This record gives sequence, structure tokens and C-alpha cells, in this order.
Amino acid sequence: KTFAEAGFSSELMKAIAKQAYEKPTPIQCQSLPVVLSGRDIIGIAKTGSGKTAAFVLPMIVHIMDQPELAKGEGPIGVICAPTRELAHQIFLEAKKFAKAYGVRVSAVYGGMSKLEQFKELKSGCEIVVATPGRLIDLLKMKACTMSRATYLVLDEADRMFDLGFEPQIRSIVGQIRPDRQTLLFSATMPRKIEKLAREILTDPVRVTV
Ligand code: AMP
Repeated sequence: KTFAEAGFSSELMKAIAKQAYEKPTPIQCQSLPVVLSGRDIIGIAKTGSGKTAAFVLPMIVHIMDQPELAKGEGPIGVICAPTRELAHQIFLEAKKFAKAYGVRVSAVYGGMSKLEQFKELKSGCEIVVATPGRLIDLLKMKACTMSRATYLVLDEADRMFDLGFEPQIRSIVGQIRPDRQTLLFSATMPRKIEKLAREILTDPVRVTV
């Protein structure tokens, strides 16, 4: 398998080559065609598997495919992660690929100034990476609208549940239009996560690595 088989544009291929990603990892091989076709996915994969690029690369394609969205406000891609550390890592990975397209990425998480993050979201972005509690706070403050959000990623869903973020996750999902594309990644699939997946994903494809 190669990245070229995914049908990425030459700019994206250049950005991938710049990262020295020679070939897709197993989770990328399995999920890229599914996600690029617009379907929902449950990815059972751990950190280190390359799952971040598996959801970030199709997110860039999703954003570039919808130029009519350019005029709107608020993030198009929303990524929820359990911890600041993970949110920051995802932010860095997303920026690597977003930069070439002028796609703006914001990261919002606890432990940083809420006012600064409010201003950051107000100034506009196409992708937001967030911890659930902080995103809820900022949405309550009307830092941004979710009217443009059409691509939602829940990363490390099991850890988010372990940390007690289930209500926040449900609230965020409830604020995003139901015809969105939804991607759920988790290292394990306890019953509570299976139930969430049944409720918020549409006919998902399940991939395991
Ligand atoms: P992740 O599991 O998403 O946290 O990724 C783990 C590490 O693998 C990160 O440092 C990525 O930049 C890197 N990575 C992701 N995809 C590839 C790939 N196809 N080839 C080589 N490294 C990769």
C-alpha cells in the first residue's frame, strides 16, 4: 500500500513526503479509504499506531473539498482528546499538513488562559483540537459556533470516559449537525463506548489494528 493510492493531491503528497512517511501504517491503510469515502469509523488503535494522521489527512481533504464552507465561521473539523498533552500532539500533527493549505488549526485545553483561547477561537479556525471540558466552557462563552462543523473525531474515547468526560462529549456531539462524519478511536471498547458509538455514529465501519 502507498499514500498515492488514497488519491491525495500533489500538495498533500508533498507534505507527507516532507514528514518522511514512506508508507501508510496498518491503521492508515485500513482507515484512509473508508474515511475518504465519507463513512463513519470506529478505529480500535493505540497511540503510536499513526492514528492521528489517519484522521487528520482526510480532515484536510474534507475541508478542501468544500470551498463553499470557506465563507462560514467556526471550525469545520472538531477533534476531542482526553488530555492537554494528547491535544497538543494532535495540534502539532494537524499543523504539519494544514499549513500548506492555509487551513487554520487551534488548540484549546485546560491549564491555559481561557481568555486567550477565547480570542483564538474568535479570530477563526477550520480545525479545533480540544479537551472536552474546555471546549464546552468556550462554547458557552460563544467563542465560536458549531454551524460549520461537519467532521468530528473522538480520540481515545475510552480515556475520555475514564476521566469522566461522557457528559461533555455528549453535549459537544449534540451541538454538531447530525449529517456530520464521525470518527471514534479507542484503545479498548468497553460497553459504554459501544453504546455511545451506536448512538452517535451512522453505519460505522470497524477497523482494528
Ligand atoms: P500517532 O499514533 O498518531 O501518535 O503517531 C505516532 C508517530 O508516528 C508520530 O510521531 C507520527 O508523526 C508518526 N507517523 C504517523 N504516520 C506515519 C507513517 N505513515 N510513517 C512513519 N511515521 C508515521
